[in-house]
Amino acid sequence: MLPALMPTYARADLAFERGDGAWLTSTDGRRYLDFGAGIATSSLGHAHPHLIAAIAEQAARVMHVSNLYRVPQAERLAERLVAASFADSVFFCNSGAEANEGMIKMVRRAMAETGQPQRYRVICFDGAFHGRTLAMLSATGNPKYLAGFGPPVDGFDHVPFGNMNAVRNAITPETAGILVEPIQGEGGVRPAPDFFLRDLRAACDEFGLFLVLDEVQCGMGRTGKLFAHEHAGIVPDAISVAKGIAGGFPMGAILAREVLAKHLPPGSHGTTFGGNPLACAAANAVLDVLLAPGFLDQVADRGRVLKDGLVELTQSMPQVFVGVRGIGLMLGLVCAVPNTELQAACVAEGLLTVAAGENVLRLLPPLIVTPEDIAEALARLRRAALRCAPGADLAAAK
Ligand SMILES: *Cc1c(COP(=O)(O)O)cnc(C)c1O
Repeated sequence: MLPALMPTYARADLAFERGDGAWLTSTDGRRYLDFGAGIATSSLGHAHPHLIAAIAEQAARVMHVSNLYRVPQAERLAERLVAASFADSVFFCNSGAEANEGMIKMVRRAMAETGQPQRYRVICFDGAFHGRTLAMLSATGNPKYLAGFGPPVDGFDHVPFGNMNAVRNAITPETAGILVEPIQGEGGVRPAPDFFLRDLRAACDEFGLFLVLDEVQCGMGRTGKLFAHEHAGIVPDAISVAKGIAGGFPMGAILAREVLAKHLPPGSHGTTFGGNPLACAAANAVLDVLLAPGFLDQVADRGRVLKDGLVELTQSMPQVFVGVRGIGLMLGLVCAVPNTELQAACVAEGLLTVAAGENVLRLLPPLIVTPEDIAEALARLRRAALRCAPGADLAAAK
């Protein structure tokens, strides 16, 4: 019989009752170290006192009023995001797909409003993931996700990730912009080289295109900078963020420069829940933590410690691991055994991780992860790897 909860996910047979920092406790009382963070979403970990207080206080006052009225919490959040970024203006919504969808609408509309309505196509990349709405499935372009859902939405062209010649060849008089993840997440934690992002910016300037970035997974402090594109030193025209922005409360946002944002006047785009007082209170609380002096540097440091440990592990166990990639606390282990097998072994050792494309196992701990948590995760990962390939530990054998 069909379960009441629609079976759209291949769920692990695990349920959690409570959490604390980087730890989760299952309903059967086992403790797990959460290095998946709900897919890079529980940015402050579990039961963070500041986030709890902000949500509880706001919930007791008013949760939702609609965008028919001013929302002071949203105004404050937008001002803070603008002050901390390249952006001039921010639109709030409820998910990553919705943020990307709005960002592409903005790109198309800006072209139409400046007398170039024929320019509506967007160049995207192989291995991308932009969400599950009809248009974002098309932007994602993965045949596996598109199958059975009818004709893909028109207007998205795909080229190999990192290939500038292919990008330039794909630009036509109908091209409006380029959409790229600075670090592909679902695609297997594949960072775009800094020079590639800079070359994309240059090509967009040369051809009058908008460069828009999907930072849904890599943004909001995940890489040790507030936004991942800061590592390359480029200025995008807009970015989408979601996942970690409100620490687990559902929220998305588009941060845009004026050249784009001014083309969405009243009535041109909208959403009922987006930027409501409760979501904005949660996101403001997350920003309090991320923008506290030294916090993002600490994320970068913890990322280095974790990556160093992973490099050591991969070198000592070549039968299990091929290598490590990623930036900050967005790291991927390229596996020599099936990633899902290693993921299951990690669960057996009490460590939660997330599988990704190219046989990668993602490690995305909460940004508040401690050095002790990292040491414990590395120990559990080594034991998990030994479950997959008994006797594979070169370091221990020496
Ligand atoms: C998760 C993700 C999305 C989709 O976000 P939803 O909130 O699931 O709609 C889009 N882009 C990237 C890079 C993501 O990681």
